[in-house]
Amino acid sequence: MGRKFISQKKQTKEELFDSLVKNAIDFLDSSLDDLEKRPKNSIVDFYTSIELFLKARLMDEHWTLILSKPETANIDSFRVGDFHSVFLEDAIKRLKSIVSEHLDQTTIDNFKALGEHRNQIVHFAHSDYADLSATKAGVVVEQWASWHHLHTLLTEKWKDVFKLYQEEFKRIHRRMMGQKDFILARYKELKPKIEIEEKSGKKVIDCQHCGMLAAVVKEEHKWGSDYSCIVCGVSDTAVVSTRESIECPNCHKDFEFFNKNLDACPHCEIAITTEKLIDLCEAKYTEGDDWWEEGQPHIAGCHRCQYERPSVFFIDGLWSCVSCFDRGWQAISCPHCDEFVTGDMETIKYFACYKCEDEARERFKADGF
Ligand SMILES: [Zn+2]
Ligand SMILES: [Zn+2]
Ligand SMILES: [Zn+2]
Ligand SMILES: [Zn+2]
Repeated sequence: MGRKFISQKKQTKEELFDSLVKNAIDFLDSSLDDLEKRPKNSIVDFYTSIELFLKARLMDEHWTLILSKPETANIDSFRVGDFHSVFLEDAIKRLKSIVSEHLDQTTIDNFKALGEHRNQIVHFAHSDYADLSATKAGVVVEQWASWHHLHTLLTEKWKDVFKLYQEEFKRIHRRMMGQKDFILARYKELKPKIEIEEKSGKKVIDCQHCGMLAAVVKEEHKWGSDYSCIVCGVSDTAVVSTRESIECPNCHKDFEFFNKNLDACPHCEIAITTEKLIDLCEAKYTEGDDWWEEGQPHIAGCHRCQYERPSVFFIDGLWSCVSCFDRGWQAISCPHCDEFVTGDMETIKYFACYKCEDEARERFKADGF
């Protein structure tokens, strides 16, 4: 895999970082180049690029962090490229534990899914397994979703680390968005099929991945609708929205705030960060659900995005996270660590919540499970 960047002559750390990033950008370009004729290569290259970017982020913290065994680090062998570097899972773990950089659960899930797809292509090239989604349509959509997550990291969360490359990211973004025509064409082609579903009484909603009105609802819950998209083949849950509004601290006009894409007040354009949104909700939503009693905590920690500060409020009848905008989970005080959190009730009751699961796992190991 991505060893193109390794040069035999010794490089400074800055040069290494730079070649790592440039190499990652090269892989994005070749992935886009291959989309038409070699969709499988396209996925492999795209995934390589994600790994290289995660490594670059780790390297920005300290160069030893991208080695698979930091304790055996040796700067000289590193400089000539002789090292075993970390893979996705490890990189994510290290970002969390050492750099205390939490990636959104949806981002992690997406990168892992792409990694699995990549592995199927690389390791089982002669089985027919990989062919299902290795059509241009499937690949475009898969890359779109991954690019969305990567782009957010590179241009928002890690903007400072990658500040020298923002122009390049803009260029790649334009290339990526250029694929929209393809999605649209596929939508038109499949429209009759979508209409048949509608006529048979099924509800069709906007797909959160490809953006087309092609997601056929399979099951509806109080918190949202499980769907399967005819255009891009993605199955997901569209979380039921809320039109609740909050007062802007700057211009004092109300605006609808429960929206992933909102980053500024629509009236005066003052920035609305996650921190600010939590502050505003803290002032507005001062009670929990029907189970809640005066004096108990009413803002829960979110197990989905694991934002450092409790970010889940009881809004419009459902527990709602204003960091990742997921809704509909239950919130309880964990019986093991006492933290007020969201999550799957059974898991929390019999095992642990997201805050104490690492300790619980250790405990089970020590008990010989
Ligand atoms: Zn879709
Ligand atoms: Zn405003
Ligand atoms: Zn969240
Ligand atoms: Zn707990």
